[in-house]
Amino acid sequence: MKILKFGGTSVGSPERMTKLLNIINPAERQIVVLSAVSGTTNSLVEISSKLLKEDKESAITLINKLKESYNQFVATLLPAEEFREEGQEIIDYHFGFLANLANDIFTPIEEKVVLAQGELISTTLYHIYLKSIGVKSVLLPALDFMKIDEDHEPDVPFTTAHLIPLIEKHSDINLFITQGFICRNSFGEVDNLRRGGSDYTASLIGAAILAEEVQIWTDIDGMHNNDPRIVKGTKPIAKLSFDEAAELAYFGAKILHPQSVFPAQKYRIPVRLLNTMEPKAPGTLIAAESERGKIKSIAAKDGITAIKIHSSRMLLAYGFLRKVFEIFERYKTPIDMITTSEVAISLSIDFTDNLDSIVAELQDFGTVDIDHDQTIVCVVGDFRAEKHGYASRVLEAVKHIPLRMISYGGSEYNISLLINTEDKVEALRSLHNRLF
Ligand code: ADP
Ligand code: ASP
Ligand code: MG
Repeated sequence: MKILKFGGTSVGSPERMTKLLNIINPAERQIVVLSAVSGTTNSLVEISSKLLKEDKESAITLINKLKESYNQFVATLLPAEEFREEGQEIIDYHFGFLANLANDIFTPIEEKVVLAQGELISTTLYHIYLKSIGVKSVLLPALDFMKIDEDHEPDVPFTTAHLIPLIEKHSDINLFITQGFICRNSFGEVDNLRRGGSDYTASLIGAAILAEEVQIWTDIDGMHNNDPRIVKGTKPIAKLSFDEAAELAYFGAKILHPQSVFPAQKYRIPVRLLNTMEPKAPGTLIAAESERGKIKSIAAKDGITAIKIHSSRMLLAYGFLRKVFEIFERYKTPIDMITTSEVAISLSIDFTDNLDSIVAELQDFGTVDIDHDQTIVCVVGDFRAEKHGYASRVLEAVKHIPLRMISYGGSEYNISLLINTEDKVEALRSLHNRLF
């Protein structure tokens, strides 16, 4: 069985939705994961932020505006009266629900419920559309089988146990549709896999049912060798290993959710990145093997904070790093990059909610310096030691840019540089010109 995930732009208009059947073959057994219609989740985030600030009037204005766009969507997607009425009922139900939430106490728990509406609406409308043209499908409620634990980690065995019976119940059906992004947390509340999380849903389902392949259908022909929003002339990469793709996704290549490669990698499910607007383009295949001997791609992740701990007591002291890492562990703050010298250690984080407490504890060890507005630039490729010369090409390309940290040798397939965010565009362009 294959998993096909379609992102926001791929379901972004009634025309796009109807064209999905050029890609989905209703004769093949598959699970189709849909995102919200593009722009919807951003609107829902905005609505929630008004409600969290108790600005009910602005929230209602935004809710009405979004509803109006869906009224139009339904009228075009479902021209036959019977189905249009069914679609309209769905819209009225979801937007009535949102308007009701605006009348009550609004907390981050309700916010998650608001954010879930986009995928609930898109999948239901698509299901009604398929019915309207006589294609049989089953709508699977992701909230019944996608679950995260108290550390936000997904529970793949839970998905296996709850999804397989749902599929087996419908042995006569080929086409299953479900929501990306949404899940339940350890309290049973509605939650989500963070922004862009539909990719993660697809990979988790692929892992849970040991799918033949996961296909991520989006608005570009695969993973490019640099960020196409910033650099001109980027090109798609035919093949990536799981490690390479994971690194690029984690360090900012927006085409994939940062965690989405891991489940596929663990269960060895190949992932293809494909273009809905150009279905014949080969796209990118992510699998265990990749082509060696090349620099593949460059990605950048903003919003990084660098922390330097300077301590003369570190000199020759064993156990020092453990004590430092324990502080980050206690505050559930992942470390991205790390470099050490005899007297200092520098590291970078992107989750800064607990920064003040972390710094207060680190000050017991020595002087602590903080730099905000940093960016990690990550160059992914074959950096085995015998490929000498590649690292120097990378450094040569950024010799005119101040470097805060360099990380090389942590793996065989990446070099990461920490720079000021204001230098990012120049760094990406210069690396692109020198490396490709
Ligand atoms: P979807 O809504 O289908 O999930 P996204 O907007 O999340 O789509 O991801 C696709 C976008 O990712 C592309 O339109 C492109 O602008 C951006 N992107 C950033 N870096 C890369 C990259 N290295 N390769 C391809 N696309 C990238
Ligand atoms: N709709 C969600 C978002 O915009 C999930 C996704 O599109 O992948 O973040
Ligand atoms: Mg996305």
